[in-house]
Amino acid sequence: MLTQFSLFRTIGIKLILFGIITGCACEAEQSSDRLRIMVVIPPQQYFVERVAGDRAEVTVLLPPGANPHTYEPRPADLAVLSRADIYFQLGLPFEEAWLPRLRSAETSTRFIDMLADIDLIMDDEHNHGHHNPHVWLSARSARTITGNIARELSDIDPQYARQYQENARDFIAELDALDAEFAERLRPFNRRTLLMHHPAWVYFARDYDLTILAIEEHGSEPGAGRMADVIEQARRLNLRTVFVQPTINPRTADMVAGDIQGRIVVLENLSYEWEQNMRTAVDEFERALQESNHAE
Ligand SMILES: [Zn+2]
Repeated sequence: MLTQFSLFRTIGIKLILFGIITGCACEAEQSSDRLRIMVVIPPQQYFVERVAGDRAEVTVLLPPGANPHTYEPRPADLAVLSRADIYFQLGLPFEEAWLPRLRSAETSTRFIDMLADIDLIMDDEHNHGHHNPHVWLSARSARTITGNIARELSDIDPQYARQYQENARDFIAELDALDAEFAERLRPFNRRTLLMHHPAWVYFARDYDLTILAIEEHGSEPGAGRMADVIEQARRLNLRTVFVQPTINPRTADMVAGDIQGRIVVLENLSYEWEQNMRTAVDEFERALQESNHAE
């Protein structure tokens, strides 16, 4: 990332973007009147497509399998971004380093905060700068995000505003039903704890009055003291499941699982199949909470 930035400083970002734009004009000219939208992760793509229908071409910045916490955008990403009508920001650390430079460049791209009006969770345990970024893993937050998308699309493309508003209304009705179902299923477990390597489900946990016990410490692997503390708490609460995410190889999660005689469950959190992924997670959470419940 540093080399890219210093390159920009040397040559000047406007010049680079000018070269990229003219160099790729072929592609830009061929595209239809559909909106060109760039997002960071697949769940955002799903949300945007639910609102935009076929009115938008959505590009995901993060390549499959990449870790959003450590991703470094490539020059090709900048080229795509410079041609986008809208970039929906997610507030990940790399964006905070990257976007101020792009905003100052002469592109017509609109930079929109997708998380406007969401009560962000400030998390000292999570090395993301200001807030825990996993806002999309919550049906309630998805409702707010959907409203934000509909507002922005209607503004930039008013001809189709009615269609965006209708799509958003339909999707929000689904989200409300999903939220009600999750609340019902998790009500018996209010104030209980889920054990995770990475604190990805804190917004979900807030929605349903659950607590997340994370193995990670300040976004990194824990020290010996933290490990002992997590294992002690997990034993006391009779937790038997350690949730991990697929892109991170959690040796410490294996160690904790071994110590509590528990099992590891992998949960996807960047899936485009957002609703199915949420349902799978709730199935697994319910199972884990039931196990810890029964032994009391
Ligand atoms: Zn994360």
